[in-house]
This record gives sequence, C-alpha cells and structure tokens, in this order.
Amino acid sequence: MNNKYFAELRSQDVTEAALPKNETERLKALRALRILDTPIEERFERITRIVCRSLNVPISAISLVDEERQWFKSIQGITANETPRSVAFCAHAILQNEPLIIEDATKDDRFCKNPLVTDAPIIRFYAGFPISISKDVRIGTLCAIDNKPREITLEQLEIMDDLRKMVESELKTVALSSAHIQLISELAQAERAALIDPLTQLWNRRGGEQLLQREWLLAKLHGHQIALVMLDIDHFKTVNDTYGHSLGDTAIRQVAKVMISVLRASDAICRWGGDEFLCILPNCQASNVFQILERARNAIENCPIVTPSGDISFTLSIGAFVTHPSDNAQIEGCIKQADAAMYEAKMNGRNQIVVKQSSINRSETEVCAE
Ligand code: GH3
Ligand code: MG
Repeated sequence: MNNKYFAELRSQDVTEAALPKNETERLKALRALRILDTPIEERFERITRIVCRSLNVPISAISLVDEERQWFKSIQGITANETPRSVAFCAHAILQNEPLIIEDATKDDRFCKNPLVTDAPIIRFYAGFPISISKDVRIGTLCAIDNKPREITLEQLEIMDDLRKMVESELKTVALSSAHIQLISELAQAERAALIDPLTQLWNRRGGEQLLQREWLLAKLHGHQIALVMLDIDHFKTVNDTYGHSLGDTAIRQVAKVMISVLRASDAICRWGGDEFLCILPNCQASNVFQILERARNAIENCPIVTPSGDISFTLSIGAFVTHPSDNAQIEGCIKQADAAMYEAKMNGRNQIVVKQSSINRSETEVCAE
C-alpha cells in the first residue's frame, strides 16, 4: 500500500465528516505549528510504537487533519504518508473532545462503506483520541487501529489518554537543531514537502544539502566540530533481486527508522540516493560518533525483516568524517571524505565502520572491523 493507492481512493459512498465550527482557526493553528511535511522524528515514533505494543494493535498513527488530507506525523503498520480527508476516520474524531471508539466499522453506518474498511488496510476497530493545541482546537488524533473487531479496556483508554497528552506536549516542544528549525521556518509548506523523501519521510538529498549548509555555518560560528556520515546498504542489489523490490523498500525504511532511533534529536539524516544515506552530527566528538554508529550497525545487523517465509538480514557499511569547519575544509570535500571512508569500509569486507578525523597536520583513522 502506498500514497498512490490512497490518492486513488474513491469516496463517493463515504459519509464525510462535517467541518468543525472553528475550521478556519483550527487550520491556522495547525499550520502555525510548522509540523506538516516535516521529517520523521523519533519522539513521535516512540509514542505510536507504544500504542501498538500496549493495545496490541497492528496500526497506530499521529494523524493531523489538514484542509484536504490527513497527514501522518508518525505511522506504524502502514507505509502511507497521507490519505484524503474525505475517507479519514480522524476527520470524524476531531469533531468531539472525547475519544471516538468504533468497535466494528462494518456495523457503523458512517464507516461500513468506507474504502479503508472495504479494502486495505481493512479497518475494523478504531480508537481516535483528539489532539488539542488549545481549548476546542483539535488538530488531529492519536489513533489505534485493528483489522479485527474488538473492545477497548478502561486501562487501555487511560494509556491512550496519557499518550495523547504526551503528543500534545511534544507538539509544543522543539527538539531539532537550530539549523533545522531555521530551515523549516524559512520554507513554505509545499517547499518542505518537495524536500521530503516519500519512501522514508527523511529529508531528500536537496533537503539534506540545504540543511548541511546551515549546520556548517553554525558549527563554524560556534567553533564546533561536525561529523558527516555516509551509510550504504551492503549488497542491496542482491536483496532486491532475491526478495523483490517491495522488501527492498522495507529495508530502506528500516534503516531510516533505526538511524533516527540511535541519533540525537538534534542530528539529521537524509536519503542521499538509492540505498545511501547522509547523516549530519553537529558538535560531536569522533569517539562518540564511533559509538553511535556502532549502535546503528549492530541494530541493523540484528533486526532482520520478518516475513512469512523467514527472517531476512542485511548489513550496513558506514564511513564518517569528523572535522572542524574552521579548518577551511569545504563541505563538498568533507562529503567526499565521508564517502571515501564508507568505500574503505566496503573494501575492508562491509558491515563495518571507518571514522576519519581531520586535524591541522594529520589525519587519524579509526576502524571497527567485525
Ligand atoms: P554494495 O554492497 O557495494 O553497496 O552493493 P549494492 O548491491 O548495495 O550496490 P548497488 O549500487 O549496485 O545497488 C544499489 C541498488 O539499490 C540498485 C537499485 O536498484 C536499488 N535501489 C535504489 N533505490 C531503490 C528504492 O527506492 N527501492 C528499492 N527497493 N531499491 C532501490
Ligand atoms: Mg549498497
């Protein structure tokens, strides 16, 4: 299932939700948050993962109801980034302050003909908890979804309500680096959307380049070190050829999710190209870079993709270059150094990390071999 599928959803049989009375104010407040079309963030991923585990549901999302669509800041169990608002359960849920609980969507007149019920992802159970940013201004929901009809317990209602409050407080907090905030605030929503990779919800290469220029200037201004990290999936062509392109896509998404979980919120990662990613770690020492990357390498190696026909493992080769922007080192040259370090990791046998560090008179190399 992908965004194209959702774009093609027909909604003629669907009972569309009414518009909230304060729709104009609501949309203004949502857009003022500058959260729509921003990259995936671990602090929200963590919450939707907890929903899945604590309610034992396959799907959970933080859905933000925009003018014509619901856009997912975080979603587990489905790979789509948005759906039309006309078919969104969450568009109904934001009409009230209390949670909207649907135990079996096939038995509810509003939803039984909804394409999300009659077709994939085959929604049966839905529990949507409205996310408010001020009194009666409900911008979306934290929701739990199951493909089977079910009930929700009092304890689960309480867990969801606590998690909903956590989403609300995260929305009021800024966790990104100042360069990141600068970039997001300078771009209009459509410009942001054009810089996000649809498969991973990370910055794409153009977004990464724009962010890097800002991080570079700030590091130079504050006299901080910066680490550029290039990662590339090992033998990815064989993964695709053996298990299919869709499994390959899952592997690419897995790398994105693992990387945001091991990096700090102030670090950044972008999809540089096919199976290649660039991470930017401002204000980070080489030894810390090595530890962080070792966690990532280890997590990928030990988290196989689970399929009905068995577990599929894959690995990463990682190269990093740590420098001081006051070295007069140029951005492009440093990316080449990170790329060269990654290539060295490939040549050394793959599934390993090479960290290089610039200094005035010498170049130090630290290698982690399996
Ligand atoms: P190495 O260990 O040297 O990195 O070998 P490799 O096979 O990973 O390298 P190669 O550059 O030959 O293959 C990269 C593959 O990535 C080829 C391309 O088809 C695949 N690819 C690029 N973008 C995507 C994508 O979005 N989805 C999927 N599934 N595959 C992709
Ligand atoms: Mg590769």
